[in-house]
Amino acid sequence: MSGQMLSRPVPRADVMAIDAYVPGKSGASGVAKVHKLSSNETPLGPSPLAIEAFRSVADHLALYPDGSASRLREAIARRYGLDAAQIICGNGSDDILALLAHAYLQPGDEGLYTQHGFLEYPIVIRSAGAAPVAAAETDLTADVDQLLSKVTSKTKVVFLANPNNPTGTYLSFAEVKRLHAGLPPYVLLVLDAAYAEYVTRNDYASGIELVATSENVVMTRTFSKIYGLANLRIGWAYGPAHVIDAVNRIRGPFNVNGAAIEAGIAALADAAHTQKAVAHNDHWLPWLTKWIAALGIEVTPSVGNFLLLRFPDGARTAKAADAYLTARGFVLRAVVAYGLPDCLRMTIGTAEANEGVVAALTTFMKGDERGA
Ligand SMILES: *Cc1c(COP(=O)(O)O)cnc(C)c1O
Repeated sequence: MSGQMLSRPVPRADVMAIDAYVPGKSGASGVAKVHKLSSNETPLGPSPLAIEAFRSVADHLALYPDGSASRLREAIARRYGLDAAQIICGNGSDDILALLAHAYLQPGDEGLYTQHGFLEYPIVIRSAGAAPVAAAETDLTADVDQLLSKVTSKTKVVFLANPNNPTGTYLSFAEVKRLHAGLPPYVLLVLDAAYAEYVTRNDYASGIELVATSENVVMTRTFSKIYGLANLRIGWAYGPAHVIDAVNRIRGPFNVNGAAIEAGIAALADAAHTQKAVAHNDHWLPWLTKWIAALGIEVTPSVGNFLLLRFPDGARTAKAADAYLTARGFVLRAVVAYGLPDCLRMTIGTAEANEGVVAALTTFMKGDERGA
């Protein structure tokens, strides 16, 4: 249609086909104390060193940050044993996921992800004008054979969250390698390892080795989860030099701000703080799994810092549980948009929050609806 026929600007049809990402709720009205367990943030907060570094930036707000985030990339490289030249930073890993989609997908292409995969994937695939294709999962877990069966000559990118959000399940490194081995060399495999630091399984790997030994794998990471800096928006990717080069050409020139750079560097230096976060998770993840399952709620085994809870049929629905918990200040995440209408996702919180959720779910499952 020619431009002068239209009475106002019209976005691309594939943009309007996107359902905007809806973040987890943060509040509960009329409740004195709110425990936000809806976005997989750490209950321990960031390292005090990161807070101090953040504050120090207040004296320099007029100056542009280092557009290439060199010192942050070097700090990441040191911490994870990587080459800083193969790292790119972004305004959260969401930024990087979108940049990867825009660099490698165009109309006519397909971007592949899994049935209950992170919802950012279909959004960034569509925003690049490509078609999202979901591969079925088995037992709420990515299925390599299903993924490979969906690969066509149009497939250009595969997004795999490992571990996956919201299910908490993961693929072993052997399975990830089998997936990679089955992909044509022109397909970019994006391994989103946002929760890698929490995983304590010896058959898991975040993907560093696969990136280092292939031309079509990129791993994304974030400071939003174990480092407790979600508010600052810091993500990064490690990939082959040619992928980093492509993404560098289209990223915002200052896509990581100075406060994020300084806080990120300081957070990396505080290994004791991240160890504390892992220890907290190692204690509470099995504790919550055990006590919530004992109530007759199905808990998917998770290796992350969150749990997927499936409510039984009947009156004790996920929707009713969500309302009941919210009224008591426990804000979990509804996952209807993930195709999981009978589930809620719960982030591992403080001891008080975790014990409070179990106590509230105990009365909820017994059918005590007073005050709900
Ligand atoms: C939380 C999360 C991220 C992190 O996003 P940021 O933009 O870095 O905050 C990435 N991928 C998955 C699967 C997540 O759950």
